[in-house]
Amino acid sequence: MLPESLRFPPGGKPWLLYGLFGASLVLNLALAVKYSGGDEIAPEEPGQAESAPIVAPIGDETTISNPSVPANLVAPLPEPLGVARAAGTEVFTGVVTSSLSVTFQAATAANPAALTAVYARLFAWDVDLRRDLHKGDTVEVLYEQPDGAEPLVLAARLRSQPGTGTEKVFSAWRYQAPGDRFPSYWSDTGEEVPRRLIDGPLPDYEQITSLLKDRPTHEGMDFKTPIGTPIVAPRAGRVTRTNWNHAANGNCVEVQFSDGATAKFLHMNENGVKDGQTLSAGTEIGKTGNTGRSTGPHLHYQLERGGRVLDPTEYHGTLRRQLPPDAMPGFEQARKELAEQLDGRLASR
Ligand SMILES: [Zn+2]
Repeated sequence: MLPESLRFPPGGKPWLLYGLFGASLVLNLALAVKYSGGDEIAPEEPGQAESAPIVAPIGDETTISNPSVPANLVAPLPEPLGVARAAGTEVFTGVVTSSLSVTFQAATAANPAALTAVYARLFAWDVDLRRDLHKGDTVEVLYEQPDGAEPLVLAARLRSQPGTGTEKVFSAWRYQAPGDRFPSYWSDTGEEVPRRLIDGPLPDYEQITSLLKDRPTHEGMDFKTPIGTPIVAPRAGRVTRTNWNHAANGNCVEVQFSDGATAKFLHMNENGVKDGQTLSAGTEIGKTGNTGRSTGPHLHYQLERGGRVLDPTEYHGTLRRQLPPDAMPGFEQARKELAEQLDGRLASR
């Protein structure tokens, strides 16, 4: 018999059988979910219907820099799979049968679409989650599910092709680095899992929740961050307009950089600049907000040149931070505690 807490539905069939049955009926490739912290608009087309964001990888990423961990350093995946709960946290464990979203649906996390999205946000930097998932890959997440909000991931792991010669393990551990304003996610070796724009518009933010290529109707990047976070001009330039299409964009600023690219900053709380104002790189142009058509506090950052939308990750380039050596003992302790919950499936608590 399975422990009750590891079954789904409660008292019903073990998850795995149930999941396989569900997956055989559905081949849902959309990793779609609406979550807080994103806007759902095409800013220049106010008539356009809202569309759910699709969490997708950056197609041009070619470097796999979240290092693969030897299999013998990772605890074996226990049976049965499913959801285990304790003291406000839950552990989801699943095996990919078709798509990531089907994997989460099949195992019935309380909010599978949202859990799919927050999980995909972490590993989309390293893995093309539409093309490069394999049947038999495993997904594991330790998370909290606050009422009315998206799941908060504490730890996550993706094992690609486990048990084969080409197994790769990607891990993400939530940890607030010394001096950082927000926790982020770090690999086993202390490398930051989500990439950052080089000289982007926000020196501090919580998380990138939407990349340009996530969905065709969304023309920018979204940075989840509390209202009032300072926004800076990434390049020198001139303010070309403010607060156009206010119903959709909220308070907003457009800046033409001196290299000819145009940047739009939407859903701001306050604008700190005026039309025609000349800016040097790093000038604060306002604070982030949740104005206009926005589902949660965030900045929408959009780049164009000659009428064509640019991918901010290509325009700026990206980097990954590494925890400094003196932060590693603290990180290692935090990682160990999270790993005990993830690998022990909360059984020890
Ligand atoms: Zn956006």
